[in-house]
Amino acid sequence: MSSFADLGLDPKVLSAIAAAGYEKPTPIQAGAIPPALAGRDVLGIAQTGTGKTAGFVLPMITLLGRGRARARMPRSLVLAPTRELAAQVAENFDIYARNTRLTKALLIGGVSFKEQDALIDKGVDVLIATPGRLLDHFERGKLLLTGVQIMVVDEADRMLDMGFIPDIERIFQLTPFTRQTLFFSATMAPEIERITNTFLSAPEKIEVARAATTGENITQGVVLYTASRKDRQAKEKRALLRSLIDREGASCTNAIIFCNRKTEVDIVAKSLCKHGYNAAPIHGDLDQSQRMRTLDSFREGKLQFLCASDVAARGLDVPSVSHVFNYDVPSHAEDYVHRIGRTGRAGRKGKALMICVPHDQKWLADIEKLIGNEIPRLESPLTGAPQSEKGPKSVRTDEARMPPRKREEKRDSAPRTDPPQEKRSRAPRREAPVVGMGDHVPAFLLRSFRTAAGETAE
Ligand code: AMP
Repeated sequence: MSSFADLGLDPKVLSAIAAAGYEKPTPIQAGAIPPALAGRDVLGIAQTGTGKTAGFVLPMITLLGRGRARARMPRSLVLAPTRELAAQVAENFDIYARNTRLTKALLIGGVSFKEQDALIDKGVDVLIATPGRLLDHFERGKLLLTGVQIMVVDEADRMLDMGFIPDIERIFQLTPFTRQTLFFSATMAPEIERITNTFLSAPEKIEVARAATTGENITQGVVLYTASRKDRQAKEKRALLRSLIDREGASCTNAIIFCNRKTEVDIVAKSLCKHGYNAAPIHGDLDQSQRMRTLDSFREGKLQFLCASDVAARGLDVPSVSHVFNYDVPSHAEDYVHRIGRTGRAGRKGKALMICVPHDQKWLADIEKLIGNEIPRLESPLTGAPQSEKGPKSVRTDEARMPPRKREEKRDSAPRTDPPQEKRSRAPRREAPVVGMGDHVPAFLLRSFRTAAGETAE
C-alpha cells in the first residue's frame, strides 16, 4: 500500500494529512489503519518515531465521523503514560481533525479539574488522558466510560515501567466489552502479553522494525573519556560536552542531551546556560507548566538544547532534532535505542554522540550487544585522539604536562571565540572550541550567566 488514499480514510482526514505534508503512510500506518477502519482490534508493536500516533488517530477520526458527542460519555479514549505524551496526542488530534467538528478533552495532572469537568459535561468525542487522572475524574462521578467505542492504549511498555498496569486493567473493565481496542507497545514484555491476551479480541498484530540504531540516517559515535583526576570528572565532562557541541558547528541546530539522573539534568542545563548556550532541563520533578513551556519553546525553535531524563523524554514528539548527546551512557541498553531514536526521524539525517567514562564501559558493551554493532570511537575534541578502552591517565595529555608558562602560550595561539554577550540562540557554533578543561578556561569565558533558575552551576 503506497498511498493514504488507498487506506479507506475519510476525505476530510486525507486533506488534513496532505496539509501536514505527509506523502505516504509509514509501515505502522499502512499496517494498522485498514484493520482499525474495519473495526478490528489492533496490536501495534512500534515505538515513537514510527508514526504510530497517526496510526491510531486517523482511523479514530474516520470512525467517529458519523455520530455525535454525548454529555459525560466520551465516545473514544486514548490513554498515554505521561502528561507530555497525552498532550502530544492531543496536538496530533487537532492537526488531523482540523476539517471535522470532532471535539476532545485532555485530562492530565497540573490542569484544574474545573476546566476539564466543564468540557466533559458538554460532551466530547475523544478523551485523551493519563490513567491516574482519568480514574480521579471517574471516581468523582463526573465521567461515564460506558459510551467508549474505541479505546487506545499508547506506549504500554512505559505504562508497565511506571506501574500503571493495574489502572489500565481497571479502565478496561469500566469500558464496554464490545469496544474496539488499539493497543501500542514498543516491546512485548510478559505482563503486556497477558493484558493483550485478556483484553484484546483476535487483534491484527503489526510489528515494525525497532528504531534503526544502525540505520544510515543516524550517525553514531562515542568518546571514551577518563578524567585527569577523579574529583574533576564532573567538571571536565561538562567541558567535553561543550566541545562536542562546538565541534558539530552549524549542523547542530537543536539537540536533546540525555543524563541518567535528574540532578545531573539540572546541573548540565545550568552549566550550559552559564557558558552561554541556550539550554533548559526537563524531568519529572519540574512542575507541569514549566515542562510544557520548556517543551513548547524547544519545539518552536526558541530553545536549542533540551537536557532530559529518560522518563521525561520518552515518546516526546520533537520533529527534526539534529543531534542527540548522551552525556551519560544509559544503564539500560534499551534506553539507548529510545534516546537516539529522537534524531533521524521520518527519514531525516541525525547524529547521536555519547560520552563514556570508564565506569560506564560495561553499559556501552551491553548497548553494542543489543544493537549488534560497535559504536564508532571518536577523537575527543579536547585531546584530538581517541582513548583506549581502558583510557589514559589524563585527558589533558601533553598540555597537562607542560609547564604553566608554555601552557599559556599554547592557549594564546589557539583560535578564540568572541566573549559571549548573551545566551546563544540557534545561531551556529562559530569555531572549534578554545575552552579546555577546568581551570584552563580563559577568564572571559568564565563570566557567569544567570540561568532561568537564577543560579550558576559550577
Ligand atoms: P510518532 O511516532 O507518532 O511520534 O510520529 C513521529 C513523527 O513522524 C511525528 O512528527 C509525525 O508528525 C511524523 N509523521 C507521522 N506520520 C508521517 C508520515 N506518514 N509522513 C511523514 N511524517 C509523518
